[in-house]
Amino acid sequence: MLEARLGRLPIAYGGDVDAALLGEVAYGEAKDQEDYVLMKIGTGIGVAAMSGGRLVSSSNRGTPEMGHLIIKRDADDAFTGACPAHGDCLEGLASGGAHKKRQEQGEDLDWDRQARYIGLGVHNAVYSHRPSVMMLGGGVMAHEGLFDAVRDQVVNLNKGYLELPEFFLSKDGERMGVKGAFRLAMSAVALRGNNAQ
Ligand SMILES: [Zn+2]
Repeated sequence: MLEARLGRLPIAYGGDVDAALLGEVAYGEAKDQEDYVLMKIGTGIGVAAMSGGRLVSSSNRGTPEMGHLIIKRDADDAFTGACPAHGDCLEGLASGGAHKKRQEQGEDLDWDRQARYIGLGVHNAVYSHRPSVMMLGGGVMAHEGLFDAVRDQVVNLNKGYLELPEFFLSKDGERMGVKGAFRLAMSAVALRGNNAQ
């Protein structure tokens, strides 16, 4: 409908994490692969996946919501969680929003615990999608040492069961989302061109 109202301008839709993944695939360090997962840990936690060169998104029912997976939490973690829907899902325990709420409640953030929680989320993402490249990004991942600690967690949880993907830290922040949106727009233009022939 939007496209009809804007006349000849082609329109493409995509979520911000999908756009960041497309940006990484097109312009990032890990390009030229087909099976990617990006977990972006900022205010919330979002996951985008590409399988066989195609974005994984679930048609009319919206994109998968791996940020809200339920993970095994530490018995001595008294925080009730920050997710309005689930309380202590992954996002409720380990997102930037959860960190803010923990600190408001007087907690001194335990980064080993945070690496453990994020590592559980990444383990689940790797086992669900079997990517060759696992990327981590977002403001929380900029915390010094967190990337290595999360990767170590995933290696420990795996116990040699799967061949693990290559891990990358997405370094370009929000700009990858913009680059990805540009890529998405280019493909909409290309699609329009093909349809017109
Ligand atoms: Zn949740």
